[in-house]
Amino acid sequence: MTLINDFLSLIYPRYCEACGSNLYKHEDLICNQCIITLPHSNYHLLSVNEINLLFAGRVPLIHALCIFNFEKSGRVQKLIHALKYQNQMGLGIWLGNYYANLLKANSILDDVDLLIPIPLHKNKLKQRGYNQSECFAKGLSEIFERPMLNNCILRLSETSTQTKKKKFERWQNVEGVFKINNPSILENKHVLLVDDVITTGATIDAAWQTIKDIEGIKISVISIAFAAKNF
Ligand SMILES: [Zn+2]
Repeated sequence: MTLINDFLSLIYPRYCEACGSNLYKHEDLICNQCIITLPHSNYHLLSVNEINLLFAGRVPLIHALCIFNFEKSGRVQKLIHALKYQNQMGLGIWLGNYYANLLKANSILDDVDLLIPIPLHKNKLKQRGYNQSECFAKGLSEIFERPMLNNCILRLSETSTQTKKKKFERWQNVEGVFKINNPSILENKHVLLVDDVITTGATIDAAWQTIKDIEGIKISVISIAFAAKNF
């Protein structure tokens, strides 16, 4: 098998999705150097972090986690770009497995009942072919052994122009954008909302507005990257 892998890596060199350097045969998608040196948030080690602060007074988050601090034009942006626009669904699953293993070793998120990836609008889903947040959620769900519900919340309107708008406009833009199917499934459940990147927090806030009146519901949030400082 090693010989075959060596042979294949000669014909089909594989590259790190973060830094672009050649991968060694024992590496998969992200090189070991990047795994060590990428800007990890380490938010799971802090009692209060910047995502908690962003949502303070708005969304009563139990856990607020992300793997990386987003850096414009950096390796994290490259990872997100590959996941969203280059059909790298496996990268989302890889990142989900990676982070869930890290959190599980610290007994974090043991109290979560189920995962809900932030949905795309059906037109965007058709265009892209997959939901990048769902890939990440799938990877998390595999390790945590908790169900992922991907048809529970629907996105009613497209917000593709969101990134072009200013912060205040973005808040208005996502009001009432989601709809919940069968809310009773979520009664007395601790829900982990899964997003790819958190920026202003408007999307998570809108999702919370949709589910907050469900009896006994609790909420946490997790993302690959947190980008608020850059906007
Ligand atoms: Zn790398």
